[in-house]
Amino acid sequence: MPELPEVEHVVRALHRVVIGRRIVAAEVTLPKLIAPTTPSAFKRKLKDSLITEVSRRGKFILIHVEKSGARSHGRAIAPTRTSDRVLAVHLRMTGKFLYLSADDALPKHARAIFYLDNDRRLVFSDQRKFGVMKLVARSQVSTTKGISELAPEPFSDDFNLGYLKDTLARSRRTLKTLLLDQTRVLGLGNIYAAEALFRAGINPFKVSSELSTKRVARLHAEILAVLRDAISDSSTSRIDLERPDGFTYGEAFERFWQVYEREGEPCVKCDARIRRVTHGGRSTYWCPRCQRR
Ligand SMILES: [Zn+2]
Repeated sequence: MPELPEVEHVVRALHRVVIGRRIVAAEVTLPKLIAPTTPSAFKRKLKDSLITEVSRRGKFILIHVEKSGARSHGRAIAPTRTSDRVLAVHLRMTGKFLYLSADDALPKHARAIFYLDNDRRLVFSDQRKFGVMKLVARSQVSTTKGISELAPEPFSDDFNLGYLKDTLARSRRTLKTLLLDQTRVLGLGNIYAAEALFRAGINPFKVSSELSTKRVARLHAEILAVLRDAISDSSTSRIDLERPDGFTYGEAFERFWQVYEREGEPCVKCDARIRRVTHGGRSTYWCPRCQRR
């Protein structure tokens, strides 16, 4: 499953190739992907629209499209703001975008295809079919279910030390659980929650409200640092939309992880063996010495 740093790289990769391109036609082979919009409405609303921006809110990729003005007697009239829409895409487990030439074969799990005005196709492939695409008016993005509940963006001013302190103080859940709750702390999945706690030297099973102010500050700094490092590390910027077989999430990031998937390996700081426990299908990794408390 892609985590926030990888989604950020997908956004940047899309940005490089689709901005300024026009969607000539759209096709959906999995109606539940775009529900409650119907495939026919989806096609109609996207046909002939211009891709003006690609951004991100949490792990939602926001593809901004503008429909040029309705034609009146062959003459274009001014575009209306109401036709500005956003295609909000959540990749979930296996969703990925591919940017293919007319000659490339469609991937086996192509669920949506956008035909662009340069004879390329932007394809959404999703083996497990958990991906989500919501076509909404631009003015309604922030109130869209799944987006409206999200905590502040980690790199925004709203995610400050005071915010994290208040959020932790109000919770009796373990840090590991709380950090994964995107409505409380945004941006950490299983991997980067483990990495941030390791860097901060904090035990993942500690009760959130019991963390001292000094250690909250440490955690806040490490959450930002681990995300920033993962996004900026050159080895992680290999998401290539033009590989017809697609890329695998995590493949470029593995070298970067210090505790995640390193059970039994020596800790990079103290040589103790990294431990792992699994509950609810999710593994927690930590160093029993560096993260004693
Ligand atoms: Zn250690």
